[in-house]
Amino acid sequence: MDADSPLPASTTPSGLRLGTQAVHAGRPARTPDAPLNTPITMASTYVAGGDVEYGRYGNPTWTALEDALGALEGGRCLTFASGLAAVATVLDLVAHGRKVVAPRHSYTGTVMQLADLEARGRLVVELVDITDTEAVVAACTDAALVWLESPTNPALEVADIPAITAAAHEAGAYVVVDNTFATPLLQRPLEDDVDLVVHSATKYLAGHSDVQMGAILTRDDELYGVLKGRRELIGAIPGPFEAWLTLRGLRTLHLRVERAQANAQELTRRLEDHPALSEVRYPGFGGIVSIVLAQGEVAADLLSRKTRLWVHATSLGGVESTLERRRRWKSEAATIPDGLVRLSVGVEDVEDLWDDLRAALDGCVG
Ligand SMILES: *Cc1c(COP(=O)(O)O)cnc(C)c1O
Repeated sequence: MDADSPLPASTTPSGLRLGTQAVHAGRPARTPDAPLNTPITMASTYVAGGDVEYGRYGNPTWTALEDALGALEGGRCLTFASGLAAVATVLDLVAHGRKVVAPRHSYTGTVMQLADLEARGRLVVELVDITDTEAVVAACTDAALVWLESPTNPALEVADIPAITAAAHEAGAYVVVDNTFATPLLQRPLEDDVDLVVHSATKYLAGHSDVQMGAILTRDDELYGVLKGRRELIGAIPGPFEAWLTLRGLRTLHLRVERAQANAQELTRRLEDHPALSEVRYPGFGGIVSIVLAQGEVAADLLSRKTRLWVHATSLGGVESTLERRRRWKSEAATIPDGLVRLSVGVEDVEDLWDDLRAALDGCVG
């Protein structure tokens, strides 16, 4: 990306900038008549004697996606059937009875997995305020794994990843970052010495609200081997078509993130003094904005019904703008305000997004 780009100008180990890698990484070799894109390989088995052998062990379409995402995050990639399949695979590495430190406002599915594992005596969980670095560092002492999500979903809190990672390593704990919200274009945790990165590729990476996919990335060859073994054993593998769709989406990641971020920054500025709101939360980067309706739950539900362009739907990171009152889910943390609405800002024209949102918000005042 050029010097004027709103995205950081990091380069990948190959020396190419991230936007170029998003377009070019993971393509077939340039031989005459080769397709430019890796085809979808529908195969449950392969002719014996090669490296792959069976559908659960590998697939060329996964490999293309894993090469591309690996180039962006700067590590080796394994894809999974969903984000939560990737989360479960990482948590499965924690030895019986050991402690996991995690943000109290992590994605609800992650918190639910942790609670489920704790209830069954598998491991011990300590939920922390991820913005309180001192408290997180103190919690690391006897931890086996420190789970970070930054920014958190939907509170949008930001963690000091380098400081926490250093403290966790000092204590002998592994560190994982759920990088779903930031994407590798805005945050590259493996460069901060983080051991594992997890993605719900369902969101920005695939980017079109039409596929579920997860990923784990690491620079540690031993961890990579263990995780690949777990995927083979448990079988939470992606479908070849889903891998192809995700790779197709990844080709425009830089354009989508750049536009969504510009839209989110502009909307944040305009929302700041809207009388229907008591709070606007935006971490300064990315495409997610959380707003809190001054009149609470009723006003937030009203807003979800009143927009005509913004779609009332869960999930995030698609090209289309969506909104959702998060506490409509019983599993959402009780410390998230009742009237908090998470905006997933898409790539539409910002003026149309603003007109629709403002008109709906005007109907939610007092
Ligand atoms: C959606 C999400 C997940 C779970 O991903 P799925 O693909 O829905 O299984 C995990 N982490 C974060 C931050 C998410 O937003």
